[in-house]
Amino acid sequence: MSKRISVIGHKKKIALVAHDHKKADLLEWVKFNKDTLVQHELFATGTTGKIIEKELGVKITTFESGPLGGDQQIGSRIAEGYIDFLIFFWDPLESLSHDPDVKALLRMATVWNIPTACNRASADFLISSPLMCQEYPRTLPDYETYRQRLTDV
Ligand code: PGA
Repeated sequence: MSKRISVIGHKKKIALVAHDHKKADLLEWVKFNKDTLVQHELFATGTTGKIIEKELGVKITTFESGPLGGDQQIGSRIAEGYIDFLIFFWDPLESLSHDPDVKALLRMATVWNIPTACNRASADFLISSPLMCQEYPRTLPDYETYRQRLTDV
């Protein structure tokens, strides 16, 4: 499959999601990285967003709560190109009603090759990367061939 480039700008469009037992962890990370985060455009699932908005004092675009469709809304924004960075502290020790949505969101992040952190250490590495304040040429498979695959039958 051929490749194409989609640029992630200086200002990242960052989605933040944390499951209930991971919210304190995310909040601590957000507090520590406040100065960097406020330079970007932030999105979040419902409850996560409310908590972060209160902490940062900046406007965050919030979607539904995760179990009510918020993870899917973020996944669709990734497919549409409106979100290009994902911090997703999912809970590996709990079985959740919306497990399929969690998997779907992680799948979209992989399909569209966006930087994704699912734990604190990965999030620390991502946010301290020099690429945070640069444009980044994200390489994507050229999905056009895939889109056209059955149109000749
Ligand atoms: P919440 O959703 O931010 O509304 O808690 C997160 C999730 O469970 O995916």
